[in-house]
Amino acid sequence: MTREENQINQILNLLDEDVCTPKRVPVVPDSKSQADDCFNNVTSYVNLNGGSAVNGWRISCYPKYVEAEFHCVWENEEGDLTDITPYNPKRTEILFAPIEKFIWDGTPVQTIILNTSRSVLVDDYIVANKAIFKMRMNRFLGKSVDKDQFKDAYELLQCTLKLLSHNGTIDSKCCCNSGKLFKNCHRYLVDKVKELA
Ligand SMILES: [Zn+2]
Repeated sequence: MTREENQINQILNLLDEDVCTPKRVPVVPDSKSQADDCFNNVTSYVNLNGGSAVNGWRISCYPKYVEAEFHCVWENEEGDLTDITPYNPKRTEILFAPIEKFIWDGTPVQTIILNTSRSVLVDDYIVANKAIFKMRMNRFLGKSVDKDQFKDAYELLQCTLKLLSHNGTIDSKCCCNSGKLFKNCHRYLVDKVKELA
């Protein structure tokens, strides 16, 4: 089994039973579509072109972790799936596991991240993700969200993602170009953000 196959199996075990086998889905962005707005993109596209919306999980494998994000793609009359949402950096296909007969009611769905290494940096990234999800959920429920807390969590998310994209660790130079190591610089945010997660 390859590392990727192993990661996919592990994350599928964490998802609900009504998840279908993941398949490769081509990314063909629609000109009116916006990044990170798959549900609105597909809804508008269906209104203009027919077909239907399919909800599911987009599974992405990385060297140190695997991630499943709730996502929506377009299905034509023949049953073929296309991801019409653009990505930056660009993607030509995604791995997508549809959820059978699932109708999304708009409630935020948490991204599932599984640390498949012993990377402390991945744990920090997970802390940031959990905190941001919690605040998004609070906003959704009409509760107030502290702007500074959101800013801290978002900064930690961006910083850990940037380091992870260069295969970094907490001993790498910090994302802010201070010249200090991450663990001696922006990692101070982890304790602040952890309280929110
Ligand atoms: Zn820094």
